[in-house]
Amino acid sequence: MSNSNDKSETPKASDTNRRAFLQTSTLAGTGMLLSGMTPAFGSTNEGTQMTIQSKGYAAVDESGVLVPWTFERRAVGENDILIDIKYASICHSDIHQEKGHWGEQIYPQVPGHEIVGIVAAVGANVTKFKVGDRAGVGCMVDGCTGDDCAHGGEQYSPGTVFTYGYPDERSPTGISQGGYSTNIVVRDHYAVHIPETISFEEAAPLLCAGVTTYSPLLKFELGPGVKVGVAGIGGLGHLAVKLAVSKGADVYAFTTTEAKREDILSWGAKEVILVDSNDAFGDYAGQLDCMISTIPYQYNVAGYASVVKPGGFFTQVGIPERSEVTVNALGLAASRVNFNASLIGNMQETQDVVNYCAENGVAPQIEIIPSEGINQAWEDVVNKNARYRYVIDAATF
Ligand SMILES: [Zn+2]
Repeated sequence: MSNSNDKSETPKASDTNRRAFLQTSTLAGTGMLLSGMTPAFGSTNEGTQMTIQSKGYAAVDESGVLVPWTFERRAVGENDILIDIKYASICHSDIHQEKGHWGEQIYPQVPGHEIVGIVAAVGANVTKFKVGDRAGVGCMVDGCTGDDCAHGGEQYSPGTVFTYGYPDERSPTGISQGGYSTNIVVRDHYAVHIPETISFEEAAPLLCAGVTTYSPLLKFELGPGVKVGVAGIGGLGHLAVKLAVSKGADVYAFTTTEAKREDILSWGAKEVILVDSNDAFGDYAGQLDCMISTIPYQYNVAGYASVVKPGGFFTQVGIPERSEVTVNALGLAASRVNFNASLIGNMQETQDVVNYCAENGVAPQIEIIPSEGINQAWEDVVNKNARYRYVIDAATF
């Protein structure tokens, strides 16, 4: 492991503040690292033998109530980096998983897979990052690396370790622990660079919500004149609207919340359709080229899909309870759409969406909260009162 920062470049005057910040941050990170290290118990990691102390908020049962928790993370291996977390945002998936909606869980479990911060330590083999770099982590922390992943993306590889609640024998708690916490250890390949031109707090939601919508939207080949529907305008959906608008497409936003109308129009959507009954779809039958659904509950899939023209794509990215959506086969058959589903995006797409948003000024609409606000924020997400992504300030853990 190396804590050295590259100070060989000549600082420009305009860089002085940033460099001072980086060096301070590096020192703080090192101090934290040293004070946070405790002797490992049973660690066989090839890098350091020291586990990392972390503090965050964990679910302890299926109640959906999180509590403060101090725990140990796995040691920083020779291909790993340690990130001092600055912000982590709240995804609906966090709530579904911790409440056991997708299957039985091991507790305590720290959720959070939209994570940004500063690299505090790097393993001996790491060249992708150095101490002081800005870094982000999404839904995966380890697995296939490089160009040899033959599974169509790291997220489809059998060896992938997802960011929280996933079995990981190197973790002192037996499972991966997520980003509602002060730090995280991640394989270097599974972290992305965060450009200076986007703030940490605005970058965080891109790591899951951003890439989950960006990946299928790219497959739609959006451009001027293409009519794309977005179903469900929450954390994912609002980014889908902004990304599709940025690509020049005509965006039709379908929401059940009338109070979101003005926000959605302000992002450049062409139309906002209030879905207050199944009649809402009639005027749009077969009109759109494609549609993405971010709805994480059971809903009228065939009704929404009926607005897509025959042969167009309808892609499901929201994952409801029991991971199921119920489809009316006749309804779907009658509109002859291509129904498919998509899981997050690969690591290249994750870096791409962060870069794209930084370069094109696409930013999520966020509300920053302290750790004490997490439980209320979860209730707001479930009750459709979030506008539109809660971002936790990790300094408050
Ligand atoms: Zn997510």
